[in-house]
Amino acid sequence: MYALCDGNNFFVSCERVFDSSLEGKPVIVLSNNDGCAIARSNEAKTLGIKMGANYFEIENLVKKHNVQVFSTNYVLYADMSIRMKGLLSRFCPDVEDYSIDEAFLDFTGFDKIDLRKHCLEMARTVKQGIGIPVSIGVAPTKTLAKIANKFAKKRGCLTMMRWPHIFWGGLYKSSKPSFHKTKTCL
Ligand SMILES: [Mg+2]
Repeated sequence: MYALCDGNNFFVSCERVFDSSLEGKPVIVLSNNDGCAIARSNEAKTLGIKMGANYFEIENLVKKHNVQVFSTNYVLYADMSIRMKGLLSRFCPDVEDYSIDEAFLDFTGFDKIDLRKHCLEMARTVKQGIGIPVSIGVAPTKTLAKIANKFAKKRGCLTMMRWPHIFWGGLYKSSKPSFHKTKTCL
């Protein structure tokens, strides 16, 4: 089984680690030169701020709702990324960097371990250790783990997908409606 572990709203979450007053508020992080929104808190998403939205197009929305705006701080995000992946490596010897806020974990040989508990503990450890909330998708392949991660983001913190499942034209269907389990762990 593979897991894809992904830091939620990663750049925003990094900013929140150092300023807890940002919790519960709409927050966005802008791209280089403050051109467009590249990270949004859930509150900012709820306001309708889209990924990649040009700042000049959302400026009125930002002012109206007092959205907290940050320029990118890649030094900080890279440091937090290293810390996050260091914590993940406590739970799996094979951690593969996928992006600044994502890593695949190869759980081959973990047959005797309760992966659900293991992954929930991993998510708790990351949250408690560095303050970053994560979503984890677990599945038999990396591609499916990525899809499971999408479910995890929407439904809680962990989604486990198991065979059998069928792909039709990019749409996911399952022969069993209860093919995935999600647990809120944080
Ligand atoms: Mg992410």
